[in-house]
Amino acid sequence: MPDPTMHDAILVLNAGSSSIKFSLFAVRGGELELDCRGQIEGIYTSPRFAARDAAGATLSEKAWGEGARLGHDGALAHLLEFLRGELADYRLAGVGHRVVHGGLVYTQPVRVDAGVLATLGKFVPLAPLHQPHNLAPIRALLERAPDLAQVATFDTSFHRTNPAIAQRFAIPAELHDAGVQRYGFHGLSYEYIASVLPQFDARAAAGRTVVLHLGNGASMCALAAGRSVASTMGFTALEGLMMGTRSGAIDPGVLLWLMDERGMDARAIERLLYHQSGLLGVSGISSDMRALLASGEPRAKLAVDLYVYRIRREMGSLAAALGGLDAIVFTAGIGENSAEIRARVMAEAAWLGVRANGRANARGGPRISAAKSRVAAWTIPTNEELMIARHTRRVLGV
Ligand code: ADP
Repeated sequence: MPDPTMHDAILVLNAGSSSIKFSLFAVRGGELELDCRGQIEGIYTSPRFAARDAAGATLSEKAWGEGARLGHDGALAHLLEFLRGELADYRLAGVGHRVVHGGLVYTQPVRVDAGVLATLGKFVPLAPLHQPHNLAPIRALLERAPDLAQVATFDTSFHRTNPAIAQRFAIPAELHDAGVQRYGFHGLSYEYIASVLPQFDARAAAGRTVVLHLGNGASMCALAAGRSVASTMGFTALEGLMMGTRSGAIDPGVLLWLMDERGMDARAIERLLYHQSGLLGVSGISSDMRALLASGEPRAKLAVDLYVYRIRREMGSLAAALGGLDAIVFTAGIGENSAEIRARVMAEAAWLGVRANGRANARGGPRISAAKSRVAAWTIPTNEELMIARHTRRVLGV
């Protein structure tokens, strides 16, 4: 007999190239409540584990020291060992995973079996720096615990409502049919924002909104009545805005020049565009916005100026895709925490009808536009983990 006092729980995993983040949600009174979260970082260099409860109090910590290579398998094993104790009071209903690419096949989250995993493996060339890491814990859990329900949720799915023309590159049809299309990313973040927007701004939720997801990776999404109609990211998460270490949009002719004149191959260009460009490349100092805003160096100022300028340009593009603008929403690390970047972006969007409320912006919002502003501006914290847990719960019928 199942213990009726035990709550169902959903574990959310977000596995990246050097870390695995986790969140444990309990289903209580029909709602999802975060009970515990944490991560193992530096899994190939100097692994550190930390888990905290919902109030932020430390539950467990461990550091392996410099040079220890836990890898994804070792990190997952430690995580499961920790969770075995935590989960004693729950019924684990399933695990929800963040997977960057669902290709054209998965427009919705999906329960994973060996066949689905094989299909997801085919998207590795579309996101070689993320997809293999996202799939590693799914594969390991399928082997260790074949009866445990697993659900894959995708960063691309939310953008499948884009009109066909917004998903198209001007290249021969054969390449389009082979999957060279604009997919868009950060979809779980945008979907979460779209889901809570009605609580903040009914007009924006029913109207035309541009959401700015400004983290280490950065993109913007145009929402029409809560559905994605365009985004700045494309075939890969390299397109669009300038990011921490990624270039964002670049004339494809530059790649040809790098190959012809610098003899660079695909891997060298990949390193340049993913890891050595963006805020880091332009400043030569840091990929961290905080460090650049605190620096007096002219190159740091140039990097921040270019970052804001690129947002201004893309804002115009997305407003054009929407045919007007009712609201903008800032989210993710920089969007949620940097009043300075928000103030600069709002000033650059004055021509679109955005008027900032300086004091509200300095306080962090949520509403950061002036009462008379034609276009409302908001700061809303994103919650991709909760979005993954909601999807997982729905797919599993918990
Ligand atoms: P990820 O995309 O890895 O999830 P985050 O959403 O956590 O990243 O965003 C990380 C970025 O947020 C970093 O560039 C960091 O400098 C920036 N950031 C965090 N807090 C602040 C702040 N108070 N001021 C400016 N930038 C900040």
